[in-house]
Amino acid sequence: MRVLIVEDEIRLADTLGEIMHTQKYTYDIVYNGSDGLAYGESNIYDVIILDIMLPNMNGFEVVKNLRNKKIKTPVILLTARDDISDKIKGLDFGADDYLTKPFSSEELLARIRAVSRRKGEVVLDELEYADLKLNLTNYLILCGDKSLHLGFKEFEIMRIIMSNTAAVVAKEVLLTKVWGYDSDAEDNNVEVYISFLRKKLQFLGSRVGITTVRKIGYYLEESV
Ligand code: CA
Repeated sequence: MRVLIVEDEIRLADTLGEIMHTQKYTYDIVYNGSDGLAYGESNIYDVIILDIMLPNMNGFEVVKNLRNKKIKTPVILLTARDDISDKIKGLDFGADDYLTKPFSSEELLARIRAVSRRKGEVVLDELEYADLKLNLTNYLILCGDKSLHLGFKEFEIMRIIMSNTAAVVAKEVLLTKVWGYDSDAEDNNVEVYISFLRKKLQFLGSRVGITTVRKIGYYLEESV
């Protein structure tokens, strides 16, 4: 799960980041509306947490612009007061849910799970492909009675490839989703991590391999 946090109160933004961290969600934080829009337009996030009162463009404008640009990422608006007209306005502009400050981390996480489920992305504990299992809560990859811990980037790559087994996953997608929108990482970073993963699959004795489609990307293949 990759979350974009758009919040200008630095302390609250940091707290939100910490809450994401406890769930092992990847996140980016921006502190004003126009950055929120620019990051949101990258369309790499699963959920956007968006404050309403923001410098240079308010949250309503951000969500309206995103929806005009056909970005469907679920948006949770943060409102400072329990104002019903704000809520209606936000939902009319295309937000998916709202949360009144102050809120508990449990409440926020429940809302995140709910809006990402609505989008059709089921929140699972485990992904499975052929003889492989990837545990999404403890980063373990398992095959038969063998298991290995994956590093964070290895895990994220494996999670994306195992969630898209019907398609070739583009290198570019891995770069933006795993290294982030702002990163200077290059194609060969992806290749290095793919080679780590191949060694781990071999160690596990899995029938599954990661196949390269030259200049495009990767997919999982089961050998018979
Ligand atoms: Ca604010």
